[in-house]
Amino acid sequence: MPFSRFSADQLDHKIPVGISACLLGDNVRYNGGHSRSDYCDKDLSDYFDYQKFCPEVAAGFGTPRPTLRLEGDPNQPRMVFTKQTDKDVSATFMATSNAYLENLAHLDGYIVMKNSPSCGLERIKVYQENGHPHMQRSAGLFTKALLQRYPLLPIEEDGRLNDPALRENFLLRVFAHHDFRHTVGDTPSMKDLIAFHSRYKYLVMAHSQPTYRLLGRMLSGSDPRPVLALKDAYFETLMMTLSTPAKRKNHCNVLMHLVGYLKRSVDASVRNDILDVVEQYRRGEVNLATPMTLLHHYLKHYGSKYIKEQSYFAPYPTPLGIRNRV
Ligand code: SF4
Repeated sequence: MPFSRFSADQLDHKIPVGISACLLGDNVRYNGGHSRSDYCDKDLSDYFDYQKFCPEVAAGFGTPRPTLRLEGDPNQPRMVFTKQTDKDVSATFMATSNAYLENLAHLDGYIVMKNSPSCGLERIKVYQENGHPHMQRSAGLFTKALLQRYPLLPIEEDGRLNDPALRENFLLRVFAHHDFRHTVGDTPSMKDLIAFHSRYKYLVMAHSQPTYRLLGRMLSGSDPRPVLALKDAYFETLMMTLSTPAKRKNHCNVLMHLVGYLKRSVDASVRNDILDVVEQYRRGEVNLATPMTLLHHYLKHYGSKYIKEQSYFAPYPTPLGIRNRV
């Protein structure tokens, strides 16, 4: 039996993820070029079924086109062409973007282009009347609307995916988002929710033990809310919790719990060897893949069905090698 559903080299289907079209090499930038991301277009495309979109082209601004920028109130910026700042094009831009946003409920993640007044996730300059940018930065107008419309959707910038911890966290959330929606679904039973919670025990614990207990209480039968309301509350709490990368200290606690499952089947000296490796990971001498590989080896032979189904072992496809870098 495989360790959790994402451990196989190939998924039986790809996961729907939105992306800024220029990141896949489409020549849609203001200068007629692209910003192709090798990681998105090559590595992740084995697992993601991309839905690409360029909001500036969709708005009819053409390619090539004059550059755009944001101006005014950083909480509610307007979009203008850099060399024609008296003409507010926000309404034109948002008309097509809003229509597009209506139909993205099937997505499990979104990758946006950095530094764009349309697609940037953060740190986008908002210019003032004096020509200087405001201290407060914004998201690009499309991504700001995306965040408002789908607040639990994992969204990340291509540049931030170069950071191993942020990359790990984004992929973890995309696969958890997908897993929940497909195994629990829109019309769940309590049994579906409890089965999901059971598989995600150690993954959630690695992010927050109090949240793991809170989620458990939601499903314990003492919460009077109907199952649909519980599902929504559970999903919101889950996605919020997973959005902060797990700390090394918490991973160590989980790893030690998992070593405990070998108590009856594996000699104490072997368990101590594994614990030594967990300590090496705690000190930052090895990456997470090292104790995980050791544990995987023993639990594959001696672990119960329950432990083998833990999403913690393969929260994203193993061939991506994510845990070799965190
Ligand atoms: S950053 Fe967004 S608006 Fe700009 S070219 Fe890429 S997809 Fe189009």
